[in-house]
Amino acid sequence: MQQGDIVKASNQLGRSLLKEGLLTENQLRYALELQLESLNKKRLGDILVELGYVTKRQIREISRKFNYRLQVGSILVDSGTITEEQLQEALAEQRVSRKRLGEILVERNVISEEQMAQALSQHLDYPYIVPSKRMVDRELLQLLPEKSLRHHVVLPLFRSEGVVTVLVHDPFDSALLQMLTGSFGNDYELAVGPRKLIRRVLQEMLDERTLQAEATTTSPAMEESFAFVRYDLDPKARVEAGSGHIGNVVDHIIANGIAERASDIHIDCMYNKIRVRYRIDGILFLKTELPKSIAEPLTRRIKVLAGVNVVDLAEAHEGHIFVKSIDKSIDLRVSIYPTVLGPSITIRVLTKDVGLKDLSDLGMLPRILTTLKNFYLSPSGLTLFCGPTGVGKTTSLYASLNHLNQCGLKICTMESPVEYSIEGIAQHQMIAFTEKWMEDIFKAMLHQDPDVIVLGEITSDAIAAAAVQLAMSGHMVFSTIHTDDAISGILQLMDSGLKAYLRSSTGLVVVSQRLVRNICAHCKETHMPPREILREFHLRDLDPDDCVFHHGAGCPRCNHTGFYDRSGVFEMLAMNDEIRDAFLETGKASTIRSAATSTRHYLSLREAGFIKALQGFTTLDEAHGILSYSEKQASASTQLSKESVEYWMGTGEEAQARR
Ligand SMILES: [Zn+2]
Repeated sequence: MQQGDIVKASNQLGRSLLKEGLLTENQLRYALELQLESLNKKRLGDILVELGYVTKRQIREISRKFNYRLQVGSILVDSGTITEEQLQEALAEQRVSRKRLGEILVERNVISEEQMAQALSQHLDYPYIVPSKRMVDRELLQLLPEKSLRHHVVLPLFRSEGVVTVLVHDPFDSALLQMLTGSFGNDYELAVGPRKLIRRVLQEMLDERTLQAEATTTSPAMEESFAFVRYDLDPKARVEAGSGHIGNVVDHIIANGIAERASDIHIDCMYNKIRVRYRIDGILFLKTELPKSIAEPLTRRIKVLAGVNVVDLAEAHEGHIFVKSIDKSIDLRVSIYPTVLGPSITIRVLTKDVGLKDLSDLGMLPRILTTLKNFYLSPSGLTLFCGPTGVGKTTSLYASLNHLNQCGLKICTMESPVEYSIEGIAQHQMIAFTEKWMEDIFKAMLHQDPDVIVLGEITSDAIAAAAVQLAMSGHMVFSTIHTDDAISGILQLMDSGLKAYLRSSTGLVVVSQRLVRNICAHCKETHMPPREILREFHLRDLDPDDCVFHHGAGCPRCNHTGFYDRSGVFEMLAMNDEIRDAFLETGKASTIRSAATSTRHYLSLREAGFIKALQGFTTLDEAHGILSYSEKQASASTQLSKESVEYWMGTGEEAQARR
């Protein structure tokens, strides 16, 4: 490589180090070769430090120096956040007003403060941090003069391995950087965040400090809302877990996740940062980032809380954290998975008392609900819940059992595992799956004189055959099956004895379900979905112009997503003679589907989703999103008419007359 080539191949850091004379060309060349060979493309800076050519401190100094010269404007244009034209307009204004460029762009509503901070974070590789009071180490705050903190809008957050993480909104503020060097030497690193959030947290903390100085007492009431979360730890673990400041950061991540209704909290190590994301209503949201330097104490804290081996870094771990809040107890299931960049930590949030729901709270269309309730009145039959993992099959099954449990019936289950225990039901946890063992347990179950039998999930032909046999011998049988839709669920069981079952004309209801996000009630408004989405529903007998749809405009309550919470969309097939004949005569799903669609005993997922959107519970886009690839491809028309929509919504004349 010629010198010119090295310069080109290297990034800004390499070029700056060469220029400053801290690195020779040969050293840079060797480091670049290593970088090319490294498996997960290590960062050049890390390689140079490992080789002993430069120190971490020198890298920090140089990065800071070269960052001065980078223009905010070109970063924003390069990252596609703003256009060149918008930049030129803002620059013209800057020449007159002398304000900072970022400030002008935010004022002109070209970008938000969050976008500004995120673009800077991505380009400069600083963590993007959403601050909270709990994250801030109060002792560090004392080290900087209040006037400067307010003037520069800056928050020192925490110290780990001797390095202080400082949150700024403007990493190019040279007066600020000078002040930080004055206070912390070179032992600090920057993170960026939205200005107004930094200012708010700073303001609150400084106010508190003043108040406390006046009252000279600490007021627990001033703690953030997460104070309601308490770990249920034994005293020894409590000592081990310590109360170091990084512990506060962990507490904040967990408590905030619970407060924001996260079902899972994901903490992933990246090259240079830690990324914290929450899964809310099924979607992962970036919550904040943290500096990589706190990965070790952060992981240690979580491991101690979860009761897993702190020393063993290379192995995967599973653990539990029990948390108590005012009104509920929460079980946190912690999984730690070692990756090449450091541990990937996933915390599943299980709130104990939300398991059991009422049948009418699942989001079923009124007609489906009455069909099910009527069916459950018959002495024998087979009910199957199908759909992929994580769509609430088990919740529906348990809601059904809860309903039947109130009707004075003897209910026996065999499940693997028993997910919720319901008082009054004989629930058995399956431990072995051998043929002999199954025979024994079936025999024992029948000796219990049951009315209702639950076989957790049909995972083999033997269980399918048993379900069929038990239903034919006069029991109401429930099970779940892992197929996409109702028709393929039945087809899959045809060879395991369901054919004989269909001939016997015992009742059969198959329910397939998905979850959709509900429109946020606080920002709901009418909205006409795009024509392309409407076309996907292949409406034949319904004019879209007669339909009213809604969406959420976005508000603080729903984190500006327009959605809050989720509910089920249910496909239902209640067997009747016509559908039965179609199954027995042909094994072809499309033929069965069109035979079934013409009856009022079958509502497809596509139709159910459409009605759910018409009801105003969800958006049409969301209803379309739940359809599987093959269902989206299927060109079968939606046989929804005004009358049939009213029928399923339970508002038709027929329903009125019955009341
Ligand atoms: Zn909202």
